[in-house]
Amino acid sequence: MKQSRGEAERISELYGLTARYAREYYEADSPSVSDAEYDALIRELRELEAARPDLARADSPTKRVGGRAAAGFRKVTHDRVMLSLDNLFDEGAVRGFIDRMPRPELVCEMKIDGLAVSLVYEDGEFVSGATRGDGKIGEDVTANLLTIPSLPRVLREKIPGRAEFRGEVLMTRERFAILNREREDVGEPLFANPRNAAAGSLRQLDPKVTASRGLSIFLYYIVDWKKIGVATQSEALARLDSLGLPVQSASLIDSRLGLRCGADEVWAFIEEWSERRHSLDYATDGVVLKLDDITLWGSVGETSHAPKWAVAFKYPPEEVFTKVLDIEISVGRTGALTPIARLEPAHLGGTVVQRASLHNEDEVRRKDVRVGDRVKIRKAGEIIPEVVEVDFGARSNGAATAPPFVMPDVCPVCGAAAVRLPGEAAVRCSNRASCGAQLKEGLRYFASRAGMDIRGLGDKLAGQLIESGLVKSLDGIYSLTEEDLTGLDRMGEKSARNLLASIEKSKSRPLSALLAALGIRFVGDRVASTLAQSFGSMDALSKATEDEIAAADGVGAVIASSVEAFFRSGANQALIRRLAEAGVKMTEGDHKARSGPLAGQTVVFTGELSSMSRAEAEGLVRSLGGKATGSVSAKTSLVVAGEKPGSKLAKATELGVRVVGEDEFLAMTE
Ligand code: NAD
Repeated sequence: MKQSRGEAERISELYGLTARYAREYYEADSPSVSDAEYDALIRELRELEAARPDLARADSPTKRVGGRAAAGFRKVTHDRVMLSLDNLFDEGAVRGFIDRMPRPELVCEMKIDGLAVSLVYEDGEFVSGATRGDGKIGEDVTANLLTIPSLPRVLREKIPGRAEFRGEVLMTRERFAILNREREDVGEPLFANPRNAAAGSLRQLDPKVTASRGLSIFLYYIVDWKKIGVATQSEALARLDSLGLPVQSASLIDSRLGLRCGADEVWAFIEEWSERRHSLDYATDGVVLKLDDITLWGSVGETSHAPKWAVAFKYPPEEVFTKVLDIEISVGRTGALTPIARLEPAHLGGTVVQRASLHNEDEVRRKDVRVGDRVKIRKAGEIIPEVVEVDFGARSNGAATAPPFVMPDVCPVCGAAAVRLPGEAAVRCSNRASCGAQLKEGLRYFASRAGMDIRGLGDKLAGQLIESGLVKSLDGIYSLTEEDLTGLDRMGEKSARNLLASIEKSKSRPLSALLAALGIRFVGDRVASTLAQSFGSMDALSKATEDEIAAADGVGAVIASSVEAFFRSGANQALIRRLAEAGVKMTEGDHKARSGPLAGQTVVFTGELSSMSRAEAEGLVRSLGGKATGSVSAKTSLVVAGEKPGSKLAKATELGVRVVGEDEFLAMTE
């Protein structure tokens, strides 16, 4: 009995964790753990569910595909569901899969680390494209797909009527490196890997942003295979190629489209490509095996999550041993002190690794990493390398080891006290207003595109301004003169004037941009815009109580306490005052979305929506010029009732407020 309670608890814990990671990965394109870690949790969940089917939930992540379509995009219901793939991790499982197939011929394709899309052509012309979403409903990304140079608008051959193809949008390693360098320059958060960069770039509301990211695409399925006249996957790949649709690298086509017969040949392919894949200019994380004979796919069948006639073999994350030369502390924009292991250079996944994050104090203590240790490092899914574990055997063999690591109690940059707040993993420098590390990062962030959008104020210039003493606090940029700037290394008159013009222009950025620029903990551009919409002015927000802030849609207690703490600090109040004196706008002002289809309307949601979360729906309302509130009153213009609506519906009827269903609401947003 005790054990079953343990299982139930663990299953419920795994549901919570994987749901959070899946949201970060699929919906925010910003994972916080590596794919290998996520896969391990899913594997554990699958095993527990198999042992205790009575505890398995119908909405388990092991039975679902991807994430929900984001608000802001038109939703597309797929004609045929877009499934995921089951994963295999070893030779035995690969052989087991092949044994279950009705025929031994399989096509091996590299598993591209991108995101799946469906493309529709009509009479040979590209008409629309969508992301996978949750497999049933995806996002219409037609305009964004049109920015991909290798995607043909017109097929080489006119296929009469409608034809659907599927494939993967990706970002090459080179584009990924350039993009992250550019983002670093302007202080924007980096993408963890090319997959997230590709997803984040395709799922942009502005196609111009997508165009600037230089995405690529490879196709791998012909949905309407009968109509196109193919009966095997190898024929399908050749046909995609002859229609002018990009297919994975020529090497695969040369090697008979990866067609292999039987387990030995398939395994040889997997082994051969384990190293070779690093020479491809795009990231891959495994090999997809597909039954070649498409006519048999229907009878082999599928589960709610994946087809049974195809599977993905995933390469293990690469790991190597190296030595810890030192443990350094880096101080981030928000003042967090992060321990970083400086390593003896080691080759890993095609790059030389010299540093690895140790995340935080607890992690170092848990792993007991010390200077001089031999450690295993890993690079999974191209997330910044991490130290997996210490080789304690080497330590007991007499390798010289330093004493246990101790987190410093002062900031290594400014010498102020470093403190760890209850419930937080990070130790932070307490000197937010003028610590050199925070100021440089803070200034870069302040000037970033999502913030004050000051073109030309990147990493290098931020460093120069601070080192020269011209800027001692964020507002210092508003007193810069042309002489100040031309005195800096390699700053001509023209660039100085352009920069000053850009700084001047930033004063009229709306409150939402200013709030995002200030680097308040947990306040990214989404929260900033909610706060700006709800409070309207800096003054109102700074006077709001924690409860009032928490009541703003989608904000909640944790963010509210951070916002309230920010405004409570005397140094921050002084900073805001100086910014206002410099002429920086402190209100949201006329939002351009005020002219949207919901302009001036106050909308309330009740019950569950099937196509998006409550927060997304409210975001959609705001993006279309309306206001989303939590309770029905005489001022409410519209109540949207989803599944199982609550008492708000009765209230709306009582007050005579217009009530619409989800479909009608969605139609209003188009
Ligand atoms: P998946 O990436 O494991 O496999 C399915 C997908 O592979 C398909 O939808 C398709 O997009 C793609 N694919 C690439 N090349 C292909 C080819 N040649 N033929 C057919 N399909 C091809 O599945 P998923 O559902 O997209 O994502 C699950 C994976 O995402 C997990 O295994 C995990 O690694 C990762 N994930 C990570 C986190 C995290 O927090 N790090 C969270 C959620 C998911």
